[in-house]
Amino acid sequence: VRGSEDSDYRFYAPHLREQLLQRRAMEGDLRHALKRGELELAYQPFVDADRAAVSGFEALLRWRHPVKGMIPPNQFIPIAESIGLITEIGLWALKTACAEAAGWPGDLAISVNLSPVQFKSKTLVDDVTAALRDAGLSPRRLQLEVTESLFIDQAEDVLATLTALRRLGTRISMDDFGTGYSSLGYLTRFPFDKIKIDQSFVRDIDKPESLAVIRAVIGLSHSMKMAVIAEGVETPAQYQLLHREGCREMQGYLFSKPQPASALPTLLMRIPLD
Ligand code: C2E
Ligand code: CA
Ligand code: CA
Ligand code: CA
Repeated sequence: VRGSEDSDYRFYAPHLREQLLQRRAMEGDLRHALKRGELELAYQPFVDADRAAVSGFEALLRWRHPVKGMIPPNQFIPIAESIGLITEIGLWALKTACAEAAGWPGDLAISVNLSPVQFKSKTLVDDVTAALRDAGLSPRRLQLEVTESLFIDQAEDVLATLTALRRLGTRISMDDFGTGYSSLGYLTRFPFDKIKIDQSFVRDIDKPESLAVIRAVIGLSHSMKMAVIAEGVETPAQYQLLHREGCREMQGYLFSKPQPASALPTLLMRIPLD
């Protein structure tokens, strides 16, 4: 037994060491990414199926690494969170998205993701206030997306901050609903403006269990007077079924993948509905 442990050790150690080195390198690169202008935002529309129109865009971070190319957010955001850099990066995303949205026609909404780590910052509410003021954007047009993991600890502080953000006039969305922390108690303590049905349920909408969850979430949102949106909508069949079930807003590749800001004017004209 000891022999095989030794060989396991020899087998895995270089691999782990390599991973650790790569991670350190990525941390180092990430610390410079913002000031070197390597971070960008892509915008993905969400549509109002009742009005057959785009109702807003979600801002999604992209990192154009000078050597490694595009690094997806699922790879660098957890690192940015672990070294506390997400507060600065998230603030940049918020400011940039608000400034961009201020130039959009009509009352199109802008949705920005907030990491739970950003809620540890004492200045979050002031930062959001300043971003709106600097951009000249009406708070009504800003949606802030949070995930259930926000409620795992520091629940009292989190509720106070969410309430303060709501008082500014911004809207709060519960992202990835149904995938995380399993207590629904927070829904009664903080009434969200919108619930986002996670794309995993939409992907599996043909499975009775997934459809049951979707129906339950739509029912919950209606009875709690919250808006509901489904993400990851890729096919007309998913779109039609969700709409029939009472889901009014939708987002997904069926309408558009996330796009650079420069592509939005054309995109607004060509999104097919019906
Ligand atoms: P999310 O907030 O749940 O964003 C939805 C993700 O699903 C995006 O991936 C989007 O490109 C992708 N997506 C949209 N429609 C479809 C579809 O029809 N099919 C499929 N398969 N995927 C679809 P992305 O851009 O790679 O972002 C991944 C995650 O990174 C986001 O998930 C969010 O948790 C995080 N993230 C992105 N930008 C930010 C940010 O500015 N701040 C924070 N804290 N997190 C961010
Ligand atoms: Ca989101
Ligand atoms: Ca989501
Ligand atoms: Ca997600």
